[in-house]
Amino acid sequence: MAEVYVLREGDLIIDGFDSVTAPASVTLVVYEGNNDTKYLLVDAGSIWDTPEALDNWLSDSPYDITHQDIYAAIITHNHPDHTGLIRYLGGDTGATIYGSDSSYHNRKPHIFNTDKLFSAKDITIIQTPGHETSHDQSVLVNTPEGIVAIVGDLMLNEKEFTDIADFSQWPPEHNTYASDSRSTIKTIEDLYKVIPGHGPAFDPRDMINI
Ligand SMILES: [Zn+2]
Repeated sequence: MAEVYVLREGDLIIDGFDSVTAPASVTLVVYEGNNDTKYLLVDAGSIWDTPEALDNWLSDSPYDITHQDIYAAIITHNHPDHTGLIRYLGGDTGATIYGSDSSYHNRKPHIFNTDKLFSAKDITIIQTPGHETSHDQSVLVNTPEGIVAIVGDLMLNEKEFTDIADFSQWPPEHNTYASDSRSTIKTIEDLYKVIPGHGPAFDPRDMINI
């Protein structure tokens, strides 16, 4: 079984057309590899975040590690508020970055290993397009309490879980793909927690309309 810890809670504050504050969720997944404990990041902050900030988040966590101990990162989608710290991860050898290619391939940093597939016993990556038309992915983690779904911007916050056709906050590229993917998440058996891209983690069992 794996553990999940939210290092930085996402948020979305839209204050007029020119003022959007949108820190993305940064999540640590801890699991036992073949020989040692592995520390995996799901999404990696923005291009404005620093490795010092990541170390501060990690020092507030139950784990005694720094950004150099991160073994790999899975990126839900290649937008710059989710990829910024990947170039600092893993110390001298670097961390392996797992992400799909993107219509935003011209954006930096862009060092994904698109030819490698992530594999770990209690961690599953599924394709959940919608926020981007074709390249988004979500990470499902098997924990002792149930499945934790880390969904990136497929769901900005719990409003988009409650109403899978809510596109009012930040419109997805493809509405039908987005609502279908949200439905996929919503119907996962034993779903215990959802970590959205720009809001606090929530317990889906508390939502009224499931
Ligand atoms: Zn985002």
